[in-house]
Amino acid sequence: MINSLRFRITAWYLAFFVLLFTAFGIFLYGVLAASLERRLDEALVSYAATAAGIFQDEVIELAGDVDKAAAQAISEIKQQGATIAIFDGEQPIGSTLPPPAGLGATLRGIHSARVIAISHAGANGYRAAVHPAPSLGINYLAVAVAPLDSVVDNLKLVRRVLLFALPILLAIAGLGGYLLTTRGLAPLQSMASQAHGISGTNLGKRIDIGNAAGELMVLSASFNDLLGRLDQSFETMRRFVADASHELRTPMAVIQGEADVALSQQRSAAEYREALAVILEESRRLSLLIGDLLNLARADAGSVTLRVEEIYLNDLLADCCRSLEPMAATRGIRLGCLPADDAPFRGDEQLLRRLILNLLDNAIRYTPRGGEVSASLETGPAGVRLRIADTGIGVAPDAISRIFERFYRTDLARSREDGGFGLGLSIVKWIAESHRGAVEVESRPAAGSIFTVSLPR
Ligand code: ADP
Repeated sequence: MINSLRFRITAWYLAFFVLLFTAFGIFLYGVLAASLERRLDEALVSYAATAAGIFQDEVIELAGDVDKAAAQAISEIKQQGATIAIFDGEQPIGSTLPPPAGLGATLRGIHSARVIAISHAGANGYRAAVHPAPSLGINYLAVAVAPLDSVVDNLKLVRRVLLFALPILLAIAGLGGYLLTTRGLAPLQSMASQAHGISGTNLGKRIDIGNAAGELMVLSASFNDLLGRLDQSFETMRRFVADASHELRTPMAVIQGEADVALSQQRSAAEYREALAVILEESRRLSLLIGDLLNLARADAGSVTLRVEEIYLNDLLADCCRSLEPMAATRGIRLGCLPADDAPFRGDEQLLRRLILNLLDNAIRYTPRGGEVSASLETGPAGVRLRIADTGIGVAPDAISRIFERFYRTDLARSREDGGFGLGLSIVKWIAESHRGAVEVESRPAAGSIFTVSLPR
């Protein structure tokens, strides 16, 4: 629960909401308190000033009868909630209501108009506006006093509303947040449950989250891409295993058949020798195939590390030509390796030898008697290009893109007796690519083929 994204988002949202609401409440409360107090003060100041003016006028009119003048002044300003008083020093000489105790003492020494706060035990305190009303040489003071009760009551109400509203708003916001995140995260939930149902047997399935938010669409699209790639490599692997088992079966069947026939009755030494020769030949083919399979499997697993060293490709090519010369001669094919300048290169000698031998071997095998195979090297600033051309059976245009696939063999090649397993070119491609190079082929049926390997420096 605590770990759920929905819960966390809602919790963060609520925490933020509480913070915002509290800040807003404090601000509102402060503004309101200041405004209420200011309004009270303004009213009191105006009462005090008016009372002072009337008192001074009345003193003159009543020929110095200050008590009567005070009574006159306070009776003219009857304001609810405020006490108006005229003070002679600390003593009131007239007041609408008895002024709060302690007011007189507070007034001591006041000579100018001002507002004072009077605290009062057990009550909310008072605000008082004082206005001097000097008459007959005496510093009379007109005072308007009001308790802070109404201000305090109003603020108490606001406080209550805010405190009462908080949990209700919190509950609504929490519920809303939870529902919104639930809705927003629903596609994730759906993705998870769909992904749950995908395994090696149904990798063709794709995740569908309908018309979800852009970010989630990106996620599902990447996931589907991943599934697509997995599906493809699973398919390749399945085909590889099926093809490999199929190829392994043929020589095994030949070996078994040969042995069965040889053992079925008493045979002459020559017959046994012949049977063993067939078995030996098939075993050789079998171990070649197993070697190729192992190499490709290692390459797939990425566990082949190149043993890079400084070599001369021209020497390597000449070497390969020499070793295939007898095979070419037996088949009546002219094998020409054009001499090349020094072609230094940093690479894995054993793998590059394999690459050249595979290409030369193909060229010789797929060229009819009387044909020609030539190999050449070209060095440039970018790297080295190896070209192996033959005048052989060629590759049909629709097969060209497939001849580098594992176990792929063209129909032309299948009809020939001495074809391989269809792994040679995939090994060539892998070796070229592991040297950051590439293989290209140009070919026309019955005209011949040119294989070009580019190896960058
Ligand atoms: P294989 O063991 O069958 O030679 P490769 O992977 O070396 O397998 O080659 C795959 C297929 O490409 C061959 O079966 C053949 O059909 C075609 N091929 C390769 N090299 C040549 C070539 N020089 N001339 C014509 N066809 C070729």
